[in-house]
Amino acid sequence: MIIVKTISELKETLKQYNDKSIGFVPTMGALHDGHISLIRRARHENDIVVVSIFVNPTQFLAGEDLDKYPRKDEVDKKICELAKVDVLFMPNINDMYGDDEVKILAPSVKGYILEGFIRPGHFDGVLRVVCKLFNLVKPTNAYFGKKDAQQLVLIQQMVKDLFMDINIVPCELIRDSDGLALSSRNVYLSHEERQKALAISKSLKSAAKKIGMGELDVSVLQSLMSDVMCELDVEYIAFMDREFNKIEKIEIKNTIILVAARLGVTRLIDNIWI
Ligand code: AMP
Repeated sequence: MIIVKTISELKETLKQYNDKSIGFVPTMGALHDGHISLIRRARHENDIVVVSIFVNPTQFLAGEDLDKYPRKDEVDKKICELAKVDVLFMPNINDMYGDDEVKILAPSVKGYILEGFIRPGHFDGVLRVVCKLFNLVKPTNAYFGKKDAQQLVLIQQMVKDLFMDINIVPCELIRDSDGLALSSRNVYLSHEERQKALAISKSLKSAAKKIGMGELDVSVLQSLMSDVMCELDVEYIAFMDREFNKIEKIEIKNTIILVAARLGVTRLIDNIWI
């Protein structure tokens, strides 16, 4: 595995893979089994696998956890090595950003609802960095988790709107054995908060079960989910189609149910694709 830190090193390294397919997995590090599942899939489907680790400051709002976001560079390098990553790109902030830059903006509706409503400007920062990374890595396929459903949909839209010739591969959401969706931020949870947080995945499961029994009315499902999460500080429960339009009735194979909740200082998001 080659570890590159600068953009010129990255360009030099990628030159040798001119005619090969490149699978790209962008991350913010503190890698867990969710990230590893993306890397494995990229390994399986491409000649070359490039992973980036970059805690992107432009997607954090003022007052969010940028400074204390978990950083585990040495362990992450080992994980990537074991997963047979070819190139690990770990740029620093000054390499990635200059002053007074040209910027890409998230769409004004889909980028500013749900996560984008609670974190206004977050998706501007996400798309800005992913656009830069795509231009640097020039991947054939890029792998994103369904865990961050809105991010995935917006990246699919960016690729389409900007005529980028990159195949976006949505990857399954990976959970811990107790049902909690894996997230680098789970380390912030106390034991008690973690136990309480299980209500999030339980609520999604119970909605899916009810849908399996024929219930398609969103308001019924929403109140069922609220009941399961009655002890949590729920920010939203949302029912969207796969292009992120709000729906009133479940459309089988075209629905995403999303939840965001706060456990103490930690925000957790989770979802299920129906
Ligand atoms: P992050 O490091 O949080 O920016 O995530 C990097 C990539 O890993 C994104 O495409 C995420 O959607 C994906 N990811 C994070 N957690 C999970 C998970 N539990 N299951 C699947 N993919 C995940």
